[in-house]
Amino acid sequence: MKAEIIENEGNSARVLLKDFKVSLVNAMRRAVINGVKTLAIDDVTIYKNTSSMYDEILATRLGLIPLKTPIELKEKGKFSFKLKEMGPKAVHASDLIPSDKDVAPAIPDMLIINLKEGEAVELEAETAWGNGAHHTKFTPGHVFYHFYPKITIPNSKVKGAARIAAMCPVDILDGEKDTLSVKKGKLSDCILCKACEDYAGSDVISISSESDKIVFEVESWGQLTVREILNEALSTLEDEVTEIGEKV
Ligand code: SF4
Repeated sequence: MKAEIIENEGNSARVLLKDFKVSLVNAMRRAVINGVKTLAIDDVTIYKNTSSMYDEILATRLGLIPLKTPIELKEKGKFSFKLKEMGPKAVHASDLIPSDKDVAPAIPDMLIINLKEGEAVELEAETAWGNGAHHTKFTPGHVFYHFYPKITIPNSKVKGAARIAAMCPVDILDGEKDTLSVKKGKLSDCILCKACEDYAGSDVISISSESDKIVFEVESWGQLTVREILNEALSTLEDEVTEIGEKV
């Protein structure tokens, strides 16, 4: 399988795959979702909660906060957070006080609870290591793939090209001066929704895909970098294949 990074910005990346087996690409996707170990809050002791939010809901919300997971701390036991706040206050993930600064919330602005005047929460939360097969809160990000788009415009001079271009939800079509085209370097952004084709007709713009190319997309929730996610997922996949090989 050949891989070429077509975009790698911040927390997301897109990789163009060629010479692949779809079953292997899907195994990679599943390995990202189910096989990568991350940290998440797993055990909450609530000392005080006079807010209108039930303890169980509060604990669930804490569990869903993505925590930075330094790979070097892998399997190194548990970490904890303390929270003690009094209303009126919007309590965010950044208000959690970590036992280790390297295991801070990945999205500090994430809202946990809105405390009204006089309401208070006081709690301690402990983390656990896990993967998406254990609980979805450990899943490190969003991952999906699709075939590489193919857009055919038989005649670029089209009356009302601007209106056709405006139908595109990801803004990859150019329709200036009644000339319809795909913006430079934007073809792989096409999500194959066919909104343009449905509007203008397949004789004006036709959407299909190339079955020998796949765009594999990963967006991290912030626990790990995309590179770490892919490396961990592939290593999990390798371990599983080796184990099967040894058993048969
Ligand atoms: S198929 Fe959808 S995303 Fe692709 S060019 Fe047409 S409108 Fe845009």
